[in-house]
Amino acid sequence: MVAPRRPLLPASLRRTWLWASLGALAGVAVMVFAYDWARTAAIEDARTRGAQRLRLYSATIRTAIDRYSYLPTILAMDPEFRRVLSHRSPEAVATANVRLEKINVAARSANLYVMAPDGETIAASNWNSPLSYVGQNYGFRPYFTDARALGAGRFFGVGLTTRQPGYFLAAAIRDGAGTFLGAAVVKVDLEGLEHDWALAGEHVYVTDHNGVAILASVPAWQYTIEARIDDATAARLAIARRYGVRQIREMSLVDLGALGEGARRLMLGERAFLAQRQPVPGENWQIHYLTGWDTISDKARATTAMAGSGWAVAVLFLLYLRQRRLGIRARADAQAAVEAALRQARDDLERTVEIRTAALRAEVAEREKTERHLRATQDELIHAGKMAALGQMSAAMAHEINQPLTALRTFLASTRIFAERGDQASLSANFCMMNELAERIAKITQHLKVFARKSPILFQTVDLSQALQRALFLLDGQIRAAGVDVELALDPAPLAGDLLRLEQVFVNLIRNALDAMQGSPRRRLAIHLAAEAGWCVTRIADSGPGIDPAVMDRLFEPFFTTKSVGEGLGLGLSLSYGIIRDMGGTIHAENIAAGGGAAFIIRLPLAGQPGEAT
Ligand code: ADP
Repeated sequence: MVAPRRPLLPASLRRTWLWASLGALAGVAVMVFAYDWARTAAIEDARTRGAQRLRLYSATIRTAIDRYSYLPTILAMDPEFRRVLSHRSPEAVATANVRLEKINVAARSANLYVMAPDGETIAASNWNSPLSYVGQNYGFRPYFTDARALGAGRFFGVGLTTRQPGYFLAAAIRDGAGTFLGAAVVKVDLEGLEHDWALAGEHVYVTDHNGVAILASVPAWQYTIEARIDDATAARLAIARRYGVRQIREMSLVDLGALGEGARRLMLGERAFLAQRQPVPGENWQIHYLTGWDTISDKARATTAMAGSGWAVAVLFLLYLRQRRLGIRARADAQAAVEAALRQARDDLERTVEIRTAALRAEVAEREKTERHLRATQDELIHAGKMAALGQMSAAMAHEINQPLTALRTFLASTRIFAERGDQASLSANFCMMNELAERIAKITQHLKVFARKSPILFQTVDLSQALQRALFLLDGQIRAAGVDVELALDPAPLAGDLLRLEQVFVNLIRNALDAMQGSPRRRLAIHLAAEAGWCVTRIADSGPGIDPAVMDRLFEPFFTTKSVGEGLGLGLSLSYGIIRDMGGTIHAENIAAGGGAAFIIRLPLAGQPGEAT
């Protein structure tokens, strides 16, 4: 027979593994979903933040320029500068230079200068520096031509002298008649903004109407252009020498596509960015704000890791709960199994006890039956013993009855004579004697009838001395015929027993004593009955030859006799032994040391005393 293969793992553990695997798979799905969600959220965050920054920085640019917008107009209204344009004396120029220098310091502008109608710079705040504008002609600059034509001009460009980029604001200076005397110009330095952005770690650049990055937080991006530089573009860029000596380069930009709401993903150089742009109000510029894509990925990754960890913790917790529940169930199952086993054991035990009890009951019933049978047999035996005793006593009994009968006859004869004589007194005495004799005969026959009765053992309270008296009465004739002296000392001794059976015991013992004393010259029977410490002790001693010590141990055996055939059956003592034992007593024989003779001692419990079995 092929034994069924046992699975490698128990079913509950296999299910746990299954759940754990499903949990892990679901965890992967959760992480994918979490990454996607976190990435979208991070993009949205970046876009919101970028939009805010764009608004802030374009406003900053606007403010940085607008704070100086009034200044050229004020300079243009100053009579000092009108005068220097009108006279151009060295003193006036010197005065104007100093004045411009002071105002420049106070206004914290990059440069202030005054230009003649031909574009030559007459006086400048940087008159004292090696790169002084004084004497330089910037008449071709759009801010100057615009100021001359329109009264005001503005322009972003790289300084031709200083090579520093700046925002130029110009206002026309006119005399009272409205003649164009020249222009007052403020150069505003925007490099500070770039510096601030760089310090804040921002990626910002500003492109002008040509698409050239004129301001950028990253120096490498400055003066780069998003478009490809072809001839037309190059020509456009050369106009007004806007960018001075700066070489315009192509931006290394790869557009990776739109991300919605004006945001795009692009590669700039080696890095990926989320790019947003917005026009700078009042200028034909665009400000660009870039968020490093790595910050977005980092955020998404961190969120994914958190979601993954959270999921793992949740799954582990659920597995723990499951294991715990399984443990509790297993313990309950084990307990139930133990209880079932105990129940089974108890049922088995009860069944075994029932079977044993039934067997015992049957055994007891069998024993009781045997005992009943035994008892009946014993009763039969006792009756037989009695009959045997009666048989042996019959001659003596006949003599016993014959004696009063003979006496009766004698009395009858004398009665007749007394009647004939009319001797009333003698008659009356005779009748009295005859009545006594008849009563004695009646008493003897009554006793014999009772003794011979076959009766089962009957326990009742009896007086042992009464049983002795009855035995002596039955054997009275034999005792007297044998010439035996009887010595009686009887105390009343109430006990629970059967009077007839006890009488039979005493008849046996006294008869044995009479038999034993047949050859003795002096015949004496001493019967003592006394109560001793809860026991009734009867001692029947004779003056016979005593008992041969060789047969002492066999006396109470059934059918043991030393008497000749016809005289003894050997049943008397064995039956007596059985009767006394049934009443909870003992019987034994001993030889009397002085004067020989045998003594039989019977001990029976007094009424109300516990029996002593032998
Ligand atoms: P049986 O009297 O028929 O022999 P018992 O059982 O009464 O049977 O007695 C057994 C024997 O015990 C007697 O044969 C006798 O040898 C002995 N025996 C009994 N009583 C006495 C006694 N008082 N003295 C001496 N021997 C006795």
